[in-house]
Amino acid sequence: MTTYSQRVYQTLKDKYPEQEDFLGAVEEFFQAIQPVLEAHPEYEDLAILERMVEPERIFIFRVPWLDDEGKVQVNTGYRVQYSSLNGPYKGGIRFHPTVNLSIMKALAFEQTFKNSLTTLPIGGGKGGADFDPKGKSDQEVMKFTQSFVTELQKYIGQDQDVPAGDIGVGGREIGYMMGQYRRLNDAAGGVFTGKPVLAGGSLGRTQATGHGVVYFLNHVLEAAGDSLAGKRVMISGAGNVAYYAAELVEELGGIVVSLSDSTSAVYQPDGLDLNIVKELKIEGRERISRYLEEDPEAKNFEGSLWDQDIQADIALPCATQGEINGDQAQRLVDNGVRYVVEGANLPCNKEAQAVFKEAGVQRAPAKASNAGGVAVSALEMAQNSMRLAWNADRVEEKLQAIMQSIFDQCLEACKKYDLDQDYVAGADIASFENIAELMKLQGVI
Ligand code: NDP
Repeated sequence: MTTYSQRVYQTLKDKYPEQEDFLGAVEEFFQAIQPVLEAHPEYEDLAILERMVEPERIFIFRVPWLDDEGKVQVNTGYRVQYSSLNGPYKGGIRFHPTVNLSIMKALAFEQTFKNSLTTLPIGGGKGGADFDPKGKSDQEVMKFTQSFVTELQKYIGQDQDVPAGDIGVGGREIGYMMGQYRRLNDAAGGVFTGKPVLAGGSLGRTQATGHGVVYFLNHVLEAAGDSLAGKRVMISGAGNVAYYAAELVEELGGIVVSLSDSTSAVYQPDGLDLNIVKELKIEGRERISRYLEEDPEAKNFEGSLWDQDIQADIALPCATQGEINGDQAQRLVDNGVRYVVEGANLPCNKEAQAVFKEAGVQRAPAKASNAGGVAVSALEMAQNSMRLAWNADRVEEKLQAIMQSIFDQCLEACKKYDLDQDYVAGADIASFENIAELMKLQGVI
């Protein structure tokens, strides 16, 4: 690292020693942008990095609600409004017991740079609560969500901050958020994205993140003179991102050999039957292990998918942050994986990143490869503002063009700084240049 970035990182570490996820995201980013810092000594005088590592604003709030037994429950809610340099704060809401300030800040930091790669007019943010929707009744989820939004609505608005879904927050929860927001304000049309289509959501938004991941994967393969046809693809998770990525992998000729959830993984060497998965995980709220009831030839493993010895060419981690550690990364390399394209945010820990780099595995970082979701969210905002709705083909075409442009920006940055096809550095550098230049032209704010 340059002495400048080292100094800023050390100050941050001294200030927030307990925020490991946030520090990890910043450290990885700072390492990648070294060539840009060397080329732009003026960034130090402008305190670009010092300003980048502090979010504009953070809200932390109490979320009280009544469970089905009439007992009072209390959770903690967060909204990190990281950067509005380029438009309203934009980033998902996560409901998961692991949500804490460090993770929220890490994800909001990543989101800010990711959003700049879409070239659409959106800032960066993230939010959520340490609420576990698993095992809760619909009524409990509704009551919790209504209480969450009763506080959150004070800080958001269609030109100010436009949340979307994330882990544990899909169409159902966004619907409840809209309802409560509308009850307390005039209209909720443009305040959330990822809305059900019936309620003003964009066609194609549900599929956008997973599809975007696979479009990005295709570009990586093409650039390496390779293709998806016949490739064996391991995917983790079985939620929104994982399922729609799996669907497109299959459509493009790849073989989806695994999916997982937080308790187990399923493996089918001939390729999973995605109709079964859809019924269980997209239309229902079942555990993935029930897949075996319909396909007894498949295998089910308790624990992490990444602990299994499975021969594959490509890995798409689409579950959660830090899901692949160093040993698991080594296992993937030993089992033939040559490409890792991130669907989840920050899925590879520091050791895993080093293993992939050392082994020459091409890794596409989430801030580039999973940006399709937020991009289509921004298209949803545009449609809402125009009071019209585009058809699914038009949205998908725009998504493809945006993923192509993100890939091109990464490649361009690699070329500019002689980095071969290091997509991680390419994405960090391209997005850093975008944000740093925006900061420069807007003065000290
Ligand atoms: P979902 O809630 O729809 O699905 C998450 C999946 O990951 C579930 O199958 C879940 O299993 C599994 N999972 C969650 N935590 C763990 C864990 N600790 N270990 C193993 N598996 C786990 O979320 P999404 O698909 O929307 O999000 C997945 C990832 O993609 C997240 O990192 C999110 O930030 C990122 N992302 C999502 C976008 C979107 O548009 N939805 C946009 C950009 C990024 P279980 O059901 O058992 O909890």
